Amino acid sequence: MRPVKNLFVLYTGGTIGMLQTVEGLAPAGGFEARMREQLQGQDEITLDWGFAELQPLLDSANMTQANWLAMRDAIVEAVEQGGHDGVLVLHGTDTLAYSAAALSFLLLGLDVPVLLTGSMQPMGAPGSDAWDNLGGALKALQNGAPQGVWLYFNGELLHGARVTKLCSDAFDAFTVLPRKRVGERTGSLPETLDYRQPRQLVNLAVLPLFPGLRAEHLRALLGGGVQALLLECYGSGTGPSDNEELLSVLREAHARGVVLAAISQCPQGHVAFDVYAAGSRLRDAGLVSGGGMTREAALGKLFSLLGSGLSQAEAERLFALDLCGERVDG
Ligand code: ASP
Repeated sequence: MRPVKNLFVLYTGGTIGMLQTVEGLAPAGGFEARMREQLQGQDEITLDWGFAELQPLLDSANMTQANWLAMRDAIVEAVEQGGHDGVLVLHGTDTLAYSAAALSFLLLGLDVPVLLTGSMQPMGAPGSDAWDNLGGALKALQNGAPQGVWLYFNGELLHGARVTKLCSDAFDAFTVLPRKRVGERTGSLPETLDYRQPRQLVNLAVLPLFPGLRAEHLRALLGGGVQALLLECYGSGTGPSDNEELLSVLREAHARGVVLAAISQCPQGHVAFDVYAAGSRLRDAGLVSGGGMTREAALGKLFSLLGSGLSQAEAERLFALDLCGERVDG
């Protein structure tokens, strides 16, 4: 934990800096001046900081993989060329957990703390949580934050590859679900996953299993050139295992190179295929277990693995290992 002395603040939009418009709250520029004004007279915050706005400013509901890569590029440039020793990303809360997870994998090997924060109410609104989150994140960085990607929210520092948005209208909106973390750590990080390596966009899909899911639904989804499908299975990783047509759609997709990954749709669940025959049949169809990973973590990890051009087999191997604490505690 090193105290940050020269921080890079990257403003991407989100409620924290939004202003009221006729259509409702919308992203607005000029946040640096508002932040400097807010900091005047706050003697306890002494670290130096530089500021950049990522264009276009977004309601985070509009975030895409391309925006994750733009954030990654801005952060890497600020650290490597700008000499910054810590990063604070200001971001909307709706997809904050997804960006935190994606950045956790895109920034593997970057040796500075990267904190993300935002707020449930805009800066300046009466009773807003914006300053508590922003000022708290600045203090945490100044006092020394751990390397890696973290979410600072409502007074808590939460692991970037474990966090989930749980509430749409409360200040304590984020949590780390008590999912079981078991698995093996990767030894040394493969060179291809280093933060400096180029990444490309990936055609990813997520599907929660539900009673009544038909093989044709799955066929339609997988027919669009999907490179990886994240299936949110029941309980400990079960699914409609007596539907032979559905299993063969999965098998065929896997045979043509699609990565099929499984997580549990239970908030406190994890995948252990062998508990039920209905789980082991899914594994036999080609699914790889995501253990106790969240949807956000699994999606960000699949993006990072396939975006770096890894083969199906290598992506599956690394998906099953812990890269940055997403699967294993400690
Ligand atoms: N819709 C907003 C966003 O995600 C919500 C927020 O920032 O709290 O940008």
